[in-house]
Amino acid sequence: MKGLKRLLDRGLGVLLESPCPLCQRSAPTEICNTCQRRIMACQVTPTWDKVENLPVFAWGVYSGALKQAIAALKYDNQPHLAHPLGVWMGNAWNQTHPVLTPAIVVPIPMHISKQRERGFNQAALLARSFCQATRLPLKADGLERQRATAAQFTLSNLERQQNLQDAFCLGRALLHQRPSQPILLLDDIYTTGATAQAAAKTLRDRGFQVRGIVVLARAMRMEGWKGERVG
Ligand SMILES: [Zn+2]
Repeated sequence: MKGLKRLLDRGLGVLLESPCPLCQRSAPTEICNTCQRRIMACQVTPTWDKVENLPVFAWGVYSGALKQAIAALKYDNQPHLAHPLGVWMGNAWNQTHPVLTPAIVVPIPMHISKQRERGFNQAALLARSFCQATRLPLKADGLERQRATAAQFTLSNLERQQNLQDAFCLGRALLHQRPSQPILLLDDIYTTGATAQAAAKTLRDRGFQVRGIVVLARAMRMEGWKGERVG
């Protein structure tokens, strides 16, 4: 009888396991242990990097298995991957910030047409798990993308800035409410910083305080980064 139970349990366990989206081997968690270790290898020391006038708090570097995981999340329709990744971002935050660090989390929005196409906004999903881990308040509709913008990587620096001018406006959650706490932007990737700068400018122009941006992955070399660290 015991043997039968064990056999049934094991059988059920196998049924409940789904393939790891990175290596396709079956795993009991969203990402298999091997791939988790490969992603962890991309983590950087959790700290604020001073970039121009907007500090960046990055979980890892956009390369290797982390780059692969972000691609699977965004382009291979694996939104559940945002959960462990967002929690890891939150854990890194918790390691370096006192429990009562005041901040309101606002994810960088996608244009509604693009979000409909993808079915989700990865920044919003990461923010949800980040907020579960940090217990920081989430304002998922803090910002809105009012213009569909061309893919940034196709543009020059100047074109990028023009492309993003007025790309954002205040969303429902902040339109009629002025929080006393500073805002913490959150996105999946930080490359040139043009998107983050545009979002921060929209908020600051309306009198909001922006603490910086938290990202899952930053480019190996960030423009305007002097290698300076801030507390
Ligand atoms: Zn795997």
